[in-house]
Amino acid sequence: MENEQNLTKEASELLDLTHNNKRGLVAMVAPSFIVDFDYPEIVRMLKKLGFRYVVEVARGAEITNAQLLALTKLHPDRKYITNPCPTIVRLIRNKYPQLLEYLAPIDSPMSATAKIVDKEWPGLKKVFIGPCLMKKFEANEDRKELDILAITFRDLQQVFDIKEIKPSRLLRRKLLAMTSKKYEFDIIGGHTRLYPISGGLAQSSGITKKLTDVEYDVISGPNNANKALSEFLNNKDLKLLDILNCDGGCINGPGMNSKASLDERRKRVIDFYEKKQ
Ligand code: SF4
Repeated sequence: MENEQNLTKEASELLDLTHNNKRGLVAMVAPSFIVDFDYPEIVRMLKKLGFRYVVEVARGAEITNAQLLALTKLHPDRKYITNPCPTIVRLIRNKYPQLLEYLAPIDSPMSATAKIVDKEWPGLKKVFIGPCLMKKFEANEDRKELDILAITFRDLQQVFDIKEIKPSRLLRRKLLAMTSKKYEFDIIGGHTRLYPISGGLAQSSGITKKLTDVEYDVISGPNNANKALSEFLNNKDLKLLDILNCDGGCINGPGMNSKASLDERRKRVIDFYEKKQ
């Protein structure tokens, strides 16, 4: 049984918000959620916890894609490195500062979603829930003005445990998924549900159809990332590096609860993506 003393700082902050927040809470759920939770069960559980709205970060990722496409159209001869991974952003800042100018100056899915939420429901408190520890730094250091509390799926599970919020039984869960719209996301994503898989950005943005094979590269994992960044400037053909620090993408992030294999995680994301198209 989870104990309040064992909570991470962010889980504890979320627990406080569920008790004391007068502004109303909006959950922004990263697309890898489907590895750790069921849908629409996750929405039911978050609303039971006290969230007024629950939205998919996959919607913000559509804006990230649109901004990237606009940039590459405006500057067809420039080279870009994608920026949704805060670990890669920090690696570039600290180890490859000569590459800073190539980081695409666009919103990450988290910041784009936060802006959508602010427009839709001004003044509500935004909580980003995802697989990534470093998103806490992105929220607190890079996007402070957006006032986001970033937590992991593991933090969320701690809070569910404290509040004794559990998934429904399988039969009720299936029935809910088939019959009820009550627990659908309040803002829904689309093909960007592929984002947490390595290469999901390149594929969902359609940039793979606009560039030739030698003009873009998809990289994941710390060793591959370091190699790709150190060779980036020497690769004259390369125009876009779609890069994530975790091996296989965000489905393998350190803030997940799942013990499933990478293949099983990938399958859950793809199944969810295909179901909702
Ligand atoms: S790849 Fe890993 S470190 Fe990068 S955003 Fe995804 S979960 Fe975070």
